[in-house]
Amino acid sequence: MAEVNMNKVTCGVIGVGHLGMHHARLYSELENAKLVGVFDTDTLRAKVIADQYGCEAFPSVAALAKKCQALSVVTPTTMHAATAIPLLEAGCHLLVEKPLCTNLAEAEAMIAAAEAHHCILQVGHVEHFNPVNGYLETHVRAPKYITADRLSPFPNRGTDVGVTLDLMIHDLGVVLQLVRSPVRSIEAIGIGVLSQTEDIANARLHFENGCIADFNTSRVSTKKERTLRIFQPGGYLSMDFMAQSGHRVWKEAGCIRQEAVPLQKTEPLKAELKSFIDCILHAHAPKVDGYVARSALSTALEITRQIQSKGLVS
Ligand code: NAD
Repeated sequence: MAEVNMNKVTCGVIGVGHLGMHHARLYSELENAKLVGVFDTDTLRAKVIADQYGCEAFPSVAALAKKCQALSVVTPTTMHAATAIPLLEAGCHLLVEKPLCTNLAEAEAMIAAAEAHHCILQVGHVEHFNPVNGYLETHVRAPKYITADRLSPFPNRGTDVGVTLDLMIHDLGVVLQLVRSPVRSIEAIGIGVLSQTEDIANARLHFENGCIADFNTSRVSTKKERTLRIFQPGGYLSMDFMAQSGHRVWKEAGCIRQEAVPLQKTEPLKAELKSFIDCILHAHAPKVDGYVARSALSTALEITRQIQSKGLVS
């Protein structure tokens, strides 16, 4: 790991595909970050992104890590743990994209490596940095019923894992943080349509505190949707993560009232990376650490297990 620079954190990106290029772009723009370089097994792609954002394309992860205090791991999910653990052991602070990894043994190993080597391990649950989530954190008090709909056209990438680990995990992470009660039971179904893993998944979570949450996720939709509705005594909130908008509905003096919620639009990924850099500079714990990500992963893995056990995916 490079020497600590208290003004600008030296940063690199491993895996500069669809999402990793945006990590590179944002590190090149953030005031307290300096983009040093990128690495990708696709060397041509690495060169294109390095030229675009004015940094170096490194020949190996190890060569890049030597020059950086902080790295984003934005490889396919199946490669997260194998990429991240040696970096944590070398003392690099990491932002690992979601889902943290593909099984709980890997998650434990990553958390243990981060703790043993005093590194920040932040996980890319980007909706936690969406202003919609900021609003929900202060306005959800006693949720009784929640519906989460996340629909997307088929991506032709990210299909190394099913739609539960790829997309539903965003909503699982948000809802687990809002309900703050242990999950009592899970019922899930799902089917594969265009890939070897599930492309559509539906899950119902029953929480110990009585709240129920329904998750409806698809990556074979013709439309894009990311909505969350939260029903609690006295009214409900209907929120749109994509539009960064929403409204609340409540009863007052016998009448039903409705108003738009005031939200300041942001780029959630920028807020996420800025927060990562701030955690490094000020030795703060990240908002989405390994434990938060592990909890979402554990729930997503149980949903995946139930779906696979029903034999509807190959
Ligand atoms: P992608 O296929 O577009 O990009 C992955 C890149 O990693 C490719 O350029 C590939 O050549 C490179 N790569 C593969 N193996 C590598 C290795 N061992 N070392 C270095 N580079 C390697 O995929 P993507 O859509 O950018 O997804 C990457 C990760 O980001 C996944 O974990 C995905 O779940 C996550 N993701 C998160 C969000 C979000 O909203 N937070 C959105 C999209 C993707």
